[in-house]
Amino acid sequence: MTPLSHNQELQLDYRLYRRRFRKPLVTAYGEWVEREGVVIRLQTSDGRVGYGEVAPIPWFDPNGKGLLEGSTLVEQLGLNEFGSTIQPTCLRQIKLPTLHWGMECAITQLVDPTLPGVRVPVAGLLPAGEDALETLSQQLALGRRAYKWKIGVLPCKQEIELANQLVPKLPKGVRLRLDANGSLTDDDYKAWLSWCMAHREVVDYLEQPLAVGREQEMMDRADGMDVPIALDESVVGVESLIEVARHCPDAVLIVKPSLLGSRAQYLRWRTGHPRQRVVYSTSFETVIGLKAVWELAALDWPPLAPAGLDASSALEDDGLCPMRIGWELSNADWPNGLEHEVWEHL
Ligand SMILES: [Mg+2]
Repeated sequence: MTPLSHNQELQLDYRLYRRRFRKPLVTAYGEWVEREGVVIRLQTSDGRVGYGEVAPIPWFDPNGKGLLEGSTLVEQLGLNEFGSTIQPTCLRQIKLPTLHWGMECAITQLVDPTLPGVRVPVAGLLPAGEDALETLSQQLALGRRAYKWKIGVLPCKQEIELANQLVPKLPKGVRLRLDANGSLTDDDYKAWLSWCMAHREVVDYLEQPLAVGREQEMMDRADGMDVPIALDESVVGVESLIEVARHCPDAVLIVKPSLLGSRAQYLRWRTGHPRQRVVYSTSFETVIGLKAVWELAALDWPPLAPAGLDASSALEDDGLCPMRIGWELSNADWPNGLEHEVWEHL
């Protein structure tokens, strides 16, 4: 650990990247074709380097606007206004959660680049619709213990029929996570709750069945049904996470670290609330952002829930996540020089 002084000058560099999905990622919001993000690099005068990544997800933008027409992500983040050096205290002024996270990760790495010696199990991601059946067959060889499947894309009856075909393919002990991205109607939600109750032994949780703002209703309707409800879109940024956790202590909270904002504030909350069930999830970062997501999951104790860390299989092989992601990720998966290699590739 090498603390930084408040007024220490850090050289700031950043690079924009674009990553294309192999097939557009289909969710209830429509298609996501290309993920745009920024990698930040900070360097001290004695040559220490820290990396961080800014990886917004358009539909998680609390203003609901996504990227403004005609401006680049770098302009939107205001990165060009920072100048070539910053001081660690600049974090206090950063209001955008994704930028705060990326900058704080880079500063944290400068202070302490060591990693926890923990293995984090990895959950798989299945595409929406019928493609899930074939993808599951391919992914089973990786030995993952949980799979997330996007629902709310096809008519409910059709998806329940597909779910009935998925279940017998799951090896014993492997769990299914159903993610509706807030798109179910009241009747669909009822139908999925009944289905989940009937398949309790394979269902890990039903994620964000109804729209943001209906959190209490989602929890109340599942009350007594023994079906865990996860909240994802309802949890954007650490302040909203703390608020949602207070009102919905039984909810599984999906933590997308890249959208959290303050890493330190989250860790303080987590220390005081170890019983709230949380599941960590990638926002399809490069290996630089993925490592930071992994580290947050690894800092949790015990890190039992498989985390959504498969940041590469849905994206084209672009060299920005050059690692094999199997059924778990440990500190040995982040060799020295990996981040530098990806930075040079940007
Ligand atoms: Mg989700």
